[in-house]
Amino acid sequence: MAAGLDPAKCTIFVQSHVPEHTELCWLLNCVTPLGELGRMTQFKEKSDRERENVTAGLLNYPILQAADILIYKADAVPVGEDQAQHLEFSREVARRFNNRFGDYFPEPATLIGRGARVMGIDGASKMSKSMDNTIGVAEAPEAIWEKLRPAKTDEARKRRSDKGEPDRCNIYGYHKLVTPEAELSGIVQGCREATIGCLDCKKIFHRSLMKVLDPIRERRQDLAQHPERVREALAEGARKARVVARETLDGAKKLMGLL
Ligand code: SF4
Repeated sequence: MAAGLDPAKCTIFVQSHVPEHTELCWLLNCVTPLGELGRMTQFKEKSDRERENVTAGLLNYPILQAADILIYKADAVPVGEDQAQHLEFSREVARRFNNRFGDYFPEPATLIGRGARVMGIDGASKMSKSMDNTIGVAEAPEAIWEKLRPAKTDEARKRRSDKGEPDRCNIYGYHKLVTPEAELSGIVQGCREATIGCLDCKKIFHRSLMKVLDPIRERRQDLAQHPERVREALAEGARKARVVARETLDGAKKLMGLL
């Protein structure tokens, strides 16, 4: 809501407030081969990283995601690059269900837009809370600057006079998301000819980023003063979502021959 989603136009709800998701998940569990789950990249990465914490829930998580999507018979889902495999998996689940029980779930298309893959502030892996390399949407401007200041840039630029290549620099990747098109060519030229330093370049990025984040932070502070607005939106959202979810679930059960 702080980022601009209007509850009057969007149905915003907490997934666990619509228990039909987990019920559909169980039905879909029963049509999904185990082998496919073990091949999911996110599962492999997480289970390699935290071997002692591998639960059945982690393995089955893509089925719950499929249920989250299919229960609303979604035509398309906007995702980051790392979620594209999960969406393909959801289509596979839909196909398998449809083949077995009759055409019921549409296969959701993948919508990948700008910023589909954002690297973390460490420049080493994608931005994620578990890697502790994030820029928080609601973080104070000064705190964000403290993270940006030491962040890695093109390694060729050891001194201010060294020429660099923006395409090798994580900060330039960020610029492309928030800095106006008209300013980008100046940054590229300044970097390649060493007429701007990395610190100046980061300051420009920080300024561009704040233009995006300032209104979000302000709306968020306002919502924090009036939490009832959020609770009401979530309660109303769950009420609306449940009507649709129930109908889809009932239809799926009927097709499966469940009483
Ligand atoms: S000038 Fe900007 S784009 Fe070039 S290396 Fe430094 S931070 Fe990156």
